[in-house]
Amino acid sequence: MGMTSRERIGTAQHTDDLGEVGLEEIGDVDIVRACGWAGQKNPLGLSIWRWRYGGDQRELPRVAWGLIGRGHDPEVVARVLAHLIDDVCRPCEGRGYETVAGTPMLSDTICLHCQGTGRAPLAGEREKEVMETIARLEREIAGAIMRRLAREIGEL
Ligand SMILES: [Zn+2]
Repeated sequence: MGMTSRERIGTAQHTDDLGEVGLEEIGDVDIVRACGWAGQKNPLGLSIWRWRYGGDQRELPRVAWGLIGRGHDPEVVARVLAHLIDDVCRPCEGRGYETVAGTPMLSDTICLHCQGTGRAPLAGEREKEVMETIARLEREIAGAIMRRLAREIGEL
């Protein structure tokens, strides 16, 4: 199986036509059911999960409003979500190295903006708080889905 369990759970959200379920897809239905169950207690966590691992862009406004509803500043939330959508380091365009002045060639000098990672660092204490909230909600929803699945599998 090429997909990670995260991706699998994410894409299972798109199983809209549950009427045509084959034997091999029963697992996805179990996942959809487990997600629905876990999402009742943690709707924001499920929205984050669907957005980040299922690629469902419709969840983005729900994620934004959910975070704002938890007391995070709207502008900070917007910056963090923009960062999650695209965190390529602008000065080095994600290459991690500075270019040789006046040429398109990469130098041996590591980009100071991203320390050579090619990913823009997320600055700001309040931004980090939002990231921590997102990470915690992801852990909680993942844990709840896995526990539910384990229980359902146990009952089969
Ligand atoms: Zn850089």
